[in-house]
Amino acid sequence: MPAAEPVADVVVVGAGSGGCVVAARLSENPDRTVVLVEAGSDGARTGPIGTLPVGPGSPLVWRYPGELQPGRDVVIARGRTVGGSGAVNGGYFVRGTAADFERWPATWSYAAVLPYFRKLETDPFGDRRWHGDGGPMPIARTTDAALHSISAAFLDAAASAGFGYRADLNEPDATGAGPVPLNAHRGTRVSTAAAYLGPAADRANLRVRTGAVARRVVFEAGRAVGVEVDLAGERRVLRARTVVLCAGAVGTPQLLMHSGIGPAQQLSRLGLSVLVDRPGVGQGFEDHPEVTVGYRRAVPSPHARGRAILEVVLEADGIELRPYTASFGDIIPGVGDSVARIGVALMRPESRGEVVLRSADPADPPLVRYHYLRSAADQAAMRSGLELAQDLLSSSPFARLVEPVPTGAAVAGMLDNLGTSMHLSGSCRMGADDDPTAVVDDRCRVIGVEGLSVADTSVMPVLTSRGPHATAVMIAERVAAFLDA
Ligand SMILES: Cc1cc2nc3c(=O)[nH]c(=O)nc-3n(C[C@H](O)[C@H](O)[C@H](O)COP(=O)(O)OP(=O)(O)OC[C@H]3O[C@@H](n4cnc5c(N)ncnc54)[C@H](O)[C@@H]3O)c2cc1C
Repeated sequence: MPAAEPVADVVVVGAGSGGCVVAARLSENPDRTVVLVEAGSDGARTGPIGTLPVGPGSPLVWRYPGELQPGRDVVIARGRTVGGSGAVNGGYFVRGTAADFERWPATWSYAAVLPYFRKLETDPFGDRRWHGDGGPMPIARTTDAALHSISAAFLDAAASAGFGYRADLNEPDATGAGPVPLNAHRGTRVSTAAAYLGPAADRANLRVRTGAVARRVVFEAGRAVGVEVDLAGERRVLRARTVVLCAGAVGTPQLLMHSGIGPAQQLSRLGLSVLVDRPGVGQGFEDHPEVTVGYRRAVPSPHARGRAILEVVLEADGIELRPYTASFGDIIPGVGDSVARIGVALMRPESRGEVVLRSADPADPPLVRYHYLRSAADQAAMRSGLELAQDLLSSSPFARLVEPVPTGAAVAGMLDNLGTSMHLSGSCRMGADDDPTAVVDDRCRVIGVEGLSVADTSVMPVLTSRGPHATAVMIAERVAAFLDA
């Protein structure tokens, strides 16, 4: 029988981008006890923005078996540390656009989410209608004078090709080329662990349990009453009045399915008992497929760890072009890739994936199947994005800096250079109670049970056409406000 602990008001599972926000906000009330459960260790809350510690052997990540397309297997890394994926990521912090939120439930319109985007940040730049002055996340942009030569050439090339310059990509309708808003301060990545948990460290009512791997949610009479965890070699139940899952877009559907909430057929096949048949758990997730175009630099340029890997991007018709300032080998320790690259990502893909359990053992990592570029429309959009990247690379602003890429090489290398942006979202989508594919309602409460909410990227009903991190933090701010009401 697992050992019991005192009942907390709230147990939050996963101290990642979402979980740190929820735990910090809910523990602002000194009368509420909060326990934050994290499988990984602490100590990576900040780091140089130009290094992503996610390579082979990194102790800071989970590794999941992934399949980009049938027969194209990869290993998917997600943060496993206090700070989660936001403590190991690229630091790009761009909000979803107003048009993105038109595809979300009406209660998540741009007008409804803007106060939370403003609340989470301190961004001294730009139009004050859109920005916050007193929030935990510091936002920075690389100044023109400090831009890498590749970033500067890219902006010139985009302008010559007729794309507008956008000084603030966090405006609601921002498209065009411009500097990337970064969750960084003086070259250091600032995770939600640093920004939210740090200032809450002295609260007597907030306890962070690291090295605690949640196995499943425990229910009594249809109500979540705690979480079963493995901690310090012991299995125990952390009891709570409310449970909030923030285990990320792989971890949260995994935990729900091991708790009996998911596609009944899949659970029964594995011998798991079914509490609530929710076919949407793990199904239909989205991510942004990325194909890179490699080139040779005419002038070598050593990588500085404090330099963002993406200082500028171009947003155009559902395509994001990413002129990386360094090779992946330079930015990810242990990866031996020294090629300079521009990334081409589909930001509104049609193809959707699934997170599938492989066994009834909660310690067995699930399979992440992407089905990338399955639709003809996605293939066509990727081809035109690659042609655009090739055109820009061949234009005069790049002439001094790069050796010519042979005509047609970008499109020809499409499948060989296919990868993922690591933006997995929407594996437990938000929707109406009578929508069989929905997993949580529009207040992010799990449908069919009581006392259980989700606050991470898994709830996104439609993936934003920008990287998800800023939107993940906004979601967590909003779920914390719902739970506080
Ligand atoms: C390498 C990489 C680079 C990225 N770059 C960018 C970028 O530059 N810009 C951008 O917008 N997005 C980026 N992303 C995506 C972005 O970081 C994530 O979408 C976001 O951080 C996800 O937040 P989350 O709260 O949903 O999950 P996470 O931040 O992943 O948090 C989940 C937490 O739950 C914990 N957990 C999971 N299962 C359990 C369990 N069973 N028991 C206990 N704890 C558990 C994990 O260890 C983790 O700490 C990147 C992601 C990666 C991996």
